[in-house]
Amino acid sequence: MNAEILCVGTELLLGNVINTNSAFLAQELAKLGIDVYYHTVVGDNNERLKEALAIAFERSDLVITTGGMGPTYDDLTKESIADYFGLSMVLHQPTLEKIHVYFDQRPQKMTANNEKQAMIPQGAVVFDNQNGTAPGCAVTQNNKTAIMLPGPPTEMQLMFAQSVRAYLAPFVDSTLVSHTLYLFGIGESTVENLLKELMTTSTNPTIAPYAKNGEVLLRITAKAPNTSEGDRLIQPVIDQISRQLADYIYGIDIDNLQTAVVKKLLAHHKTVSSAESCTGGLISKLLTDVSGSSQVFSGGVCSYTNTVKADVLAVSPDTLAQYTAVSEETVMEMARGVRHLLKTDYAVATTGIAGPDGGSDEQPVGLVYVAVVSEDIADVQKLHIDFGPLTSRDDIRQYAAKVALYRLWLAIQ
Ligand code: ATP
Ligand code: MG
Repeated sequence: MNAEILCVGTELLLGNVINTNSAFLAQELAKLGIDVYYHTVVGDNNERLKEALAIAFERSDLVITTGGMGPTYDDLTKESIADYFGLSMVLHQPTLEKIHVYFDQRPQKMTANNEKQAMIPQGAVVFDNQNGTAPGCAVTQNNKTAIMLPGPPTEMQLMFAQSVRAYLAPFVDSTLVSHTLYLFGIGESTVENLLKELMTTSTNPTIAPYAKNGEVLLRITAKAPNTSEGDRLIQPVIDQISRQLADYIYGIDIDNLQTAVVKKLLAHHKTVSSAESCTGGLISKLLTDVSGSSQVFSGGVCSYTNTVKADVLAVSPDTLAQYTAVSEETVMEMARGVRHLLKTDYAVATTGIAGPDGGSDEQPVGLVYVAVVSEDIADVQKLHIDFGPLTSRDDIRQYAAKVALYRLWLAIQ
């Protein structure tokens, strides 16, 4: 079975409202193993809606619409679909009663318009709306199914979970199972090159790389009769990629890098502290975003000025004078200083030029040093963070913090 998502609303067409319904439905249908081949948006216009419906049914077995289910004259979806299937509109008594109850409990008066919401195409299956008054419904004819859902996302999503998923279950005989590998320290194109052969030859599961906030995600998706069969198809591919890209994969189906770091520290019974200059506490923030991090993250020093670097972290004034605050020497002393101060197994430190001002020829914006130290590790990275002309201060800080977390993740043992 293949599907088309048809969202109705002039506000979507004009870009005034972002079409989150289509993203939600596409993800839900994928989970059910229903292939979505088209997303369409059409305004609140009877003629064009009918045209869009006709095109959709020519190429898709299932069309799911959202929007245009309300009480006003421009809410036309149900009428257009009834027209398309040659069905008349009939009153759905339970919905009418529900609308009466709704208005009885409120000061505003029910108008004739509101009754329109209780009209459904003849023979439609009705989906109750627990977040509003307009119900959803579905009709099937000649192997073509239309599912009509309300526009407001909260109503649509709840209705999908409560009724539509179950309604669709008999239509599908397979499910999509996917697992995502999270990589850091390697670019998307390098990943593609290394896995080209596997990616082009593997059809079930499929392997799709995504770049996201300086990270690469590899999503491996299998179509199978059930979840365990899907997992069985996916496992050998995960094993092969893990062998090839071991150092870069920090987790599978994990939330993020900081979660991977906290988990690894917990597993190894190790602790960490941080000394941050250009990242201004971001590493502390990211680590403490993870519930349970208090067991492994002792704390951090936001050592933004040279005074704090020297007085709190014991970075030597000579080092600062000779090499400046943005240097390999300084970042190492910061990391060692905080590790000593907070008595942790590991420590991370950052110093750099986050911009947009403050760069020079020798120390351009984007130059960042990251250090990870332990009893026997002294890892320092010199980064030139540049994602092109739009690289922002925030981009530089975020990426520097992630490098620090990734280097720490690699170091933990
Ligand atoms: P109502 O009964 O509220 O009129 P409706 O089913 O007729 O509901 P619309 O009038 O088309 O739906 O949309 C109502 C509101 O829902 C829109 O103003 C918009 O904020 C939101 N909405 C509609 N469609 C979408 C969509 N595809 N993605 C995100 N939000 C949407
Ligand atoms: Mg409306």
